[in-house]
Amino acid sequence: MDMHPSVARVVIDVRTRALDEPFDYAIPVDLADRIAIGCPVLVPLGTRRAVGFVVGVASDSRFDNLRPIEAILGESLSRADAYDLARWIADEYAAPLAEAMRLFLPPGGTPKVVKREVDGAVTWDLVRPTVSAAEDRVVTLLDSSYQPKAGARLQRSILDALRMGPVTSGELAAELGAVSAALKTLEQRGAVEVTARRRWRGESGRAREDTAHTLTTAQRDAVEKICASPGDVIVLEGVTGSGKTEVYLRAIEHTLAAGRDAIVLVPEISLTPQTVGRFRARFGNLVAVLHSRLSVGERFDQWSLAAQGDAKVVVGARSALFAPVRDLGLVIIDEEHESSYKQSSAPRYHARDVAAHIAESSSVTVVLGSATPSMEARAAVDDCRWVSAMLPERVTAHGLPEVRIVDMGAEFGGGNRSMFSSALGDAIDAVRQRKSKGVLFLNRRGFASFLLCRECGYVPRCGNCSVSLTYHERGDRLTCHHCGHTEPTPVTCPRCESPYLRRFGAGTQRVEDEIRARWPDLAVVRMDADTTSGKGGHERALAAFEDLESGLLLGTQMVAKGLDYPEVTLVGVINADTTMHLPDFRAAERTYQLLEQVSGRAGRGEDPGLVVVQTYWPDHPAIRAVAARDAEILYAEERELRASVGWAPYRRVANIVISGETSSTVTSYSSTLGAALTENLPEGWEVLGPSDAALARVKRAYRRHLIIKAEPGAALGPFVREVLSRCPAPAGIAVAPDIDPVDFL
Ligand code: ADP
Ligand code: ZN
Ligand code: ZN
Repeated sequence: MDMHPSVARVVIDVRTRALDEPFDYAIPVDLADRIAIGCPVLVPLGTRRAVGFVVGVASDSRFDNLRPIEAILGESLSRADAYDLARWIADEYAAPLAEAMRLFLPPGGTPKVVKREVDGAVTWDLVRPTVSAAEDRVVTLLDSSYQPKAGARLQRSILDALRMGPVTSGELAAELGAVSAALKTLEQRGAVEVTARRRWRGESGRAREDTAHTLTTAQRDAVEKICASPGDVIVLEGVTGSGKTEVYLRAIEHTLAAGRDAIVLVPEISLTPQTVGRFRARFGNLVAVLHSRLSVGERFDQWSLAAQGDAKVVVGARSALFAPVRDLGLVIIDEEHESSYKQSSAPRYHARDVAAHIAESSSVTVVLGSATPSMEARAAVDDCRWVSAMLPERVTAHGLPEVRIVDMGAEFGGGNRSMFSSALGDAIDAVRQRKSKGVLFLNRRGFASFLLCRECGYVPRCGNCSVSLTYHERGDRLTCHHCGHTEPTPVTCPRCESPYLRRFGAGTQRVEDEIRARWPDLAVVRMDADTTSGKGGHERALAAFEDLESGLLLGTQMVAKGLDYPEVTLVGVINADTTMHLPDFRAAERTYQLLEQVSGRAGRGEDPGLVVVQTYWPDHPAIRAVAARDAEILYAEERELRASVGWAPYRRVANIVISGETSSTVTSYSSTLGAALTENLPEGWEVLGPSDAALARVKRAYRRHLIIKAEPGAALGPFVREVLSRCPAPAGIAVAPDIDPVDFL
């Protein structure tokens, strides 16, 4: 009597669409009682061997003469729902199955296998990433007043690095070089403590003091709604400082009390020691943290804590949604509207929509928190698919800061050619005089440029798609990157006939120069991609700002997130317009979200805050919504516009990018693919393009794209996948289907 299943269904871990279906293999009798779903196995594939994952077992197969599994490479790697979810993701996002399976693999990616022979017997071992000896020790600052001897520069640097919280000796070595002698000295002098890593679980976060607050009525209602809604998606809308995080913490407590696990996603950029510290302060060692700044070994270590059931709360960026928790009960996605929840390489999944699918097909509750919920989340609430919960007020005594909108066209007309309006100039003067702090935000999205009339603020837009036209130096033309419409650049402003029709944009360096020239005694910390590259650069810039007695933090998008410094009284937005004119139908929504988020940085402490927003388009709905603190001003207008032009969430959109080095091949294949899509197009769908992608050239590749629009909920993924399999790309051409795209680069 054979009680064991004899056939295993195995997904081969190779990136090709040809291997999208599981293969059947025979289970040898001696392996039978160790085979489980999720096991990595070694199997013969053609003349080679390959690693695969068992995704199912059966008692028979429709194929004869099955080849046997050669070895089991380890215990089950991933969550019980891994295969079903991977299958769904592959279909939904038109991605190869192996790519989707990979999401569930432990950090380190494709398992590597080594052959071992012991006493003539061959065994296969899976090589797992390990934490190196150097990473294995944690350095903590004990005496912050300790002064190293003059000239002990390395010791000084180590102490600086530790001011943000404990760091592993491995991280110190990566950043500062050979540190062991200097560390030894510091340890002997009692300035630092060096311990084994166990009491530390991977992130260099100083745990904040934890105060479990008495909930406000709105918070209590929200927590109750979450706890009473297994299998639902709850959209938690509340401005920064309204106490969303406290709601998350309570909901997690409830989940843990029920013996289940929680996953918390935050955007990578706000996965700061501050954020992590709050979860650790409440849940201590039950927390595992997954983020890209950890080494592979460290991430594997954190991942294993969850897999072994030691960690019950996983905090991480997008991919932490696939962490191997035992019994998932709650998923929290903070800043739900952030586009970083969409993966930009295959499988191009959206963590929010995958989470919603998990909720729909199980009893997992999903909480989507945001001060500015996405149009998608709002539409789902409007349709009663998702549930709304609100935190309408800040919990702190201080209200929201005053927002002042400045019309830069009028400033220019009045003779002010500086990048600072008189209102912002005065506000910076006030920061200097009162010795407080200010944050200046330079809205920069490097790639696409547009033309702007400096007198009336006019920006040319596409009549078909309602997006800004992109300026191209070559040929001096304006182009729509959604539908391909193109026109010559006008010489004077079509609206006011001003000759000041200019390309728009200034870099942080130029702004910094102007600040230094005008306020030479004001300290400025610059934070952008150039100044924060390298490990810990971001934290160092923040620490430098924190250390200032008074001064300015000048930065790009990255200053908008998660900063919580009570002494900041001024937030200045130098150029609100950049995001407004992105060649993307979400431009207005993004602008609003960004402005709302930066404004939230002011007035978090005792002093009232002031936000100054400089714009050439003061009556744009995003600007009016921020000024009036009324999101509905924007959303009402956006709903109508998107419904009439036909964009998400009222139409489902796919963007297919075709790229390659030979422009003629890219052009001809994109036309062929466009024709194939059109020919098979279901009733009521449309194809736009092919047209040049907004980023028409990247390195040496030439890029075009096609857009498909369909009704909400349409099966776009399977359709695209099917057409692609019948119309495969020729050699040298890459096709990237993006279902529900969040950008159109
Ligand atoms: P959000 O996540 O919405 O920005 P937080 O949860 O960070 O808001 O709350 C903002 C501040 O208010 C935090 O310092 C938090 O500790 C505090 N806080 C949260 N809830 C309460 C409450 N019910 N009573 C008093 N303070 C609270
Ligand atoms: Zn004009
Ligand atoms: Zn267009």
